[in-house]
Amino acid sequence: MIVSNFIHDALPARVIFGRGTLRQLPEEVARLKLERILVISAAGQNSQAHEIAMRLESRVAAVFPGAVMHTPTEVTDRALVLAVARRVDGIVAIGGGSAIGLSKAIALRTDLPQLVIPTTYAGSEATPILGETSQGEKITQRSMKVLPESILYDVDLTMELPLSMSMTSGLNAMAHAAEAFYSPDRNPLIDLMAEAGLGALISALPRIWARSDDVTGRCDALYGAWMCGSCLGSVGMGLHHKICHTLGGAFGLPHAEMHAVMLPHTLAYNLAAVPNVSDRIARLFDQQNPIVALEDFARGLGVPRALRDLGMPEEGIDLAADLAVKKPYPNPRLIEREAVRAMLARAWAGEYPRLTE
Ligand code: NAD
Repeated sequence: MIVSNFIHDALPARVIFGRGTLRQLPEEVARLKLERILVISAAGQNSQAHEIAMRLESRVAAVFPGAVMHTPTEVTDRALVLAVARRVDGIVAIGGGSAIGLSKAIALRTDLPQLVIPTTYAGSEATPILGETSQGEKITQRSMKVLPESILYDVDLTMELPLSMSMTSGLNAMAHAAEAFYSPDRNPLIDLMAEAGLGALISALPRIWARSDDVTGRCDALYGAWMCGSCLGSVGMGLHHKICHTLGGAFGLPHAEMHAVMLPHTLAYNLAAVPNVSDRIARLFDQQNPIVALEDFARGLGVPRALRDLGMPEEGIDLAADLAVKKPYPNPRLIEREAVRAMLARAWAGEYPRLTE
């Protein structure tokens, strides 16, 4: 092995991982010296937010179960009014990237400490990244202010994650690791994390698909999500993430499903430019062709295969292509509008990814 020059910026975070770890929440909150907590969740996890509030008793100053996908600024404004009125001194967010996104948006504006309890595989908990949507455009920024101070992973909370969401969210995580492999900022540690994350999810998702409450599958998937999220938090992403941010902002498409549809297409676009990454992903699947492996993996897990089935209008393909080439992220292959448009058209229609793009 020949190690070339690299920079690694380690992100500070305390991680508690396991089963039944929610019991440790009161001591973790005390460790952060939080006395007036704002508990955040999405509406669908209202009951979990209230369970958290019960566990934390008098330390809770308010509950806001109103987080929604893509972190619209008007929702943040409402939560912020509550946070200020109740003089909160910290946030506990439970849920997927939507709840954690709202927590981050408040932290950006207030610098409040955050303890987050992820219940999907999206990985936002491990990143200093915040994507916010305003007037149909999703703007993403990096700031250490939004990186959560503590992450509490309790595998038991993921046992009820609906099967379809488990599969799409797992593919969302895999996208972070796949793009980390060809990131200009990658380094040997990130490579190890990307490999561990992809390997864990490739092994875990079919086990969960076969039995939704497979405990070891759920443990491995959440561990994989942490590894993949850590890659996203540490290195820049490419075309795949750019397109998903664009589609999320412009059409409000569901985040995890959109990643699951797009990943084989965007990798088909990129992998010919990075044959070592192509080999690496193929090896992780123990197959010859990484795109065939990935597309068949996704199809085998029953995840949606067409952007049109997620609610994207056909007329949106041109707008998406225009936005995707605007201010592109660094990418191993030149981002050409017509090729990107053709790729989006295939993904919209649910066609098989073009193998020799
Ligand atoms: P989500 O948070 O919107 O969750 C999807 C649905 O699943 C919600 O209705 C939620 O209540 C429900 N749910 C979540 N966990 C559950 C559980 N264990 N049991 C039952 N129901 C559960 O979806 P997501 O894909 O996790 O997050 C998407 C959002 O996160 C997007 O806005 C995306 O931009 C953002 N995101 C940000 C980053 C980052 O680093 N900034 C990374 C990934 C995703």
